[in-house]
Amino acid sequence: MSSFNVAKFGGTSVANFEAMSRCAAIIENNPNTKLVVSSACSGVTNLLVELANGVQDQVRRSELLTQLAQIHDSVLEQLEDATQAASDVYEILDTVTSLAEAASIQASKKLTDHLVACGELMSTHLLTQLMKERGINAARFDIRDILRTDSNFGRAEPELEQIKALAKQSLVPLCQDFVVVTQGFIGSDAEGNTTTLGRGGSDYSAALIAEAVEASGLEIWTDVPGIYTTDPRIAQKASPIAEISFSEASEMANFGAKILHPSTLIPALRHDIPVFVGSSKEPEKGGTWIRHQVESSPLFRALALRCNQTMVTLRSAKMFHAYGFLAKVFEILAKHKISVDLITTSEISVSLTLDQTDTSGGAPQLPAEARAELEELCSVEVEHNLCLVALIGNNMSGSKGYAKQVFSTLEDFNLRMICYGASPHNLCFLVNESVAKQAIQKLHTELFEK
Ligand code: ADP
Ligand code: ASP
Ligand code: MG
Repeated sequence: MSSFNVAKFGGTSVANFEAMSRCAAIIENNPNTKLVVSSACSGVTNLLVELANGVQDQVRRSELLTQLAQIHDSVLEQLEDATQAASDVYEILDTVTSLAEAASIQASKKLTDHLVACGELMSTHLLTQLMKERGINAARFDIRDILRTDSNFGRAEPELEQIKALAKQSLVPLCQDFVVVTQGFIGSDAEGNTTTLGRGGSDYSAALIAEAVEASGLEIWTDVPGIYTTDPRIAQKASPIAEISFSEASEMANFGAKILHPSTLIPALRHDIPVFVGSSKEPEKGGTWIRHQVESSPLFRALALRCNQTMVTLRSAKMFHAYGFLAKVFEILAKHKISVDLITTSEISVSLTLDQTDTSGGAPQLPAEARAELEELCSVEVEHNLCLVALIGNNMSGSKGYAKQVFSTLEDFNLRMICYGASPHNLCFLVNESVAKQAIQKLHTELFEK
């Protein structure tokens, strides 16, 4: 195993010149950091997604393009020698302009990925130049040269063997001489088309890259000093967790804790790479270590919230005492590449939630063709505006008594679906979006503050 560390900086960490300078200081502080993975500057991906969805109004389109230029200009203006970086960034902005025009005529997932990737392509030009000006021997690397994925635009899957082989050829040798700065979130398919790993995908990229180069550590620098007992924006009294196991942190990420992309810990776990999460604004505050072995495994560890849930309920009297019904349902879902998240069943009905959405955003939809095929089998009801609340902990399916505490705290809430038992690490349920934060706050007070 190499001795080097991979550091990932999220959007707010590279939001502007000052923020990028803090990242450079963090990189300088750890001589083992040989590889830096950066997100787009804060807000940029949202602007690009709007353009990619197709903005017909030309005034709005140029407004968005101006905002993009301003974000990057503000960094360029503070660089000592911005000539090359400005020319690189402006070349990308020209691409954004033409792609945005194309999207206003006909949007597509492939075009979206090409367009939204421009955020990371620009931020890495700026960060590399800033680091060079501080005396760091930095080199920018286009991660699309090695981060091979399939062609599932908007939520591409990495091709692990190829990534590893390509990283060995070109990325690892470069890291011997330079601190390499590269893009999170983006990759390319076998034909060389740009792809993305889904919103928030830079964490996942960083973990995939750390795995490919056999890094000894992965740091995720963000805007909070570690993983908290719940999103500190929802519960003021949420507190940071010093150490957490891979399984608990994976559950948190999967259940919507935005702090980590859901797939981030899979590569780290495969290669047993310890992950650190900290704040680039306040690195001195420390953060959370995610490891295999942890000292404490409390019954309740954290609460996570995932909104934009779509619940599908399928009902059919034919299901009663019949076999093969669920197999047929899942055959249809698989055919349409619909991934199911949670599921509960009764004698004649099954409720399921659709897996989260891709780069273009919004609630996951049940495609019309899939719905039509399901309707030949059963009745189909689709509900939106739901959020999933997850209580994460240890040995939950083997412990007694706590369900009473959880459910009596929630006695005023209408719980739409409850899932419990399959995993020892969680108990989760769906509630209406309008009360979801309140449910988290009440549970946090009861289970974590007393
Ligand atoms: P980045 O741009 O660095 O990737 P994100 O915005 O994706 O940052 O993730 C950081 C945010 O995640 C925090 O600002 C916080 O609001 C949110 N968050 C959600 N759940 C948690 C949690 N359990 N602990 C800490 N932060 C959380
Ligand atoms: N820039 C991308 C996003 O905003 C990826 C990331 O930041 O992780 O979703
Ligand atoms: Mg993120």
